[in-house]
Amino acid sequence: MSGTALLRVESLEARYGGVRALSAVDLSVSEGEIVALVGSNGAGKTTVLKAVSNLLPAERGHVTAGRIVYDGRDVFRTSTDALVRGGLVGVLEGRHCFRALSVEENLVTGGLGRGSNRAAIRSDLARIYGIFPRLLQKRRAAAGLISGGEQQMVAIGRALMGRPRLLVLDEPSMGLAPQVVAEIFRTLERLNRDEGLTILVAEQNVTVALRHADRAVVLENGRSVLTGAAADLRARDDIKAFYLGAG
Ligand code: ATP
Repeated sequence: MSGTALLRVESLEARYGGVRALSAVDLSVSEGEIVALVGSNGAGKTTVLKAVSNLLPAERGHVTAGRIVYDGRDVFRTSTDALVRGGLVGVLEGRHCFRALSVEENLVTGGLGRGSNRAAIRSDLARIYGIFPRLLQKRRAAAGLISGGEQQMVAIGRALMGRPRLLVLDEPSMGLAPQVVAEIFRTLERLNRDEGLTILVAEQNVTVALRHADRAVVLENGRSVLTGAAADLRARDDIKAFYLGAG
């Protein structure tokens, strides 16, 4: 975990109509890091991640101050599609899958943006099945009929088909059993370690997030109030007390 910042969020403020969602958010993610964005329900995590992918306008959200720079590009002047092509790929909250499509068809949709040919898609699929062997067994099943954990794997696998440099995940643990959450986070850590994939992950499950991240940023009421090495934050009693029961 080192190197230059791949993503920088500076003094970000955002609102939805009259509702102020973010009032002062600063964070950075360096190449090769796993950074966790933690905070309770409504703290603003999803809003930060949507801003990072320039998705707020589609949600009637407005950035009222601050800036976000990804790989030298001003995010607010770059379309979401262009960001994806530049390697910034998001996995939204709620593991959006095309429920009527098969697991494999869902994965293939993730590779289409790059205009890959069949051979490239086939080799990318083989790679994803190597990462998530369960998806190989279920490849012909309708995505709407597999378990929540498997759907999360499909959502992540689909994002990986876009060969991201920075993978942005919103609450991958949501609604999943602890063993499945552990499996997903172990996979993310392996991708980070073996392939240098940089990861920004928003989590309410602070225990899990701090166990797997290099650094964490704590968000409270739309403000980033604390940032530090995950190992240091894990040791802090006030953090533990604040989030007791959240993990
Ligand atoms: P959660 O874990 O529940 O997703 P969060 O930390 O991701 O919480 P956000 O979803 O970013 O928080 O919400 C931040 C604030 O913005 C909250 O007060 C929320 O009610 C408000 N908010 C979020 N989306 C909208 C929207 N589309 N319209 C109006 N207010 C919104």
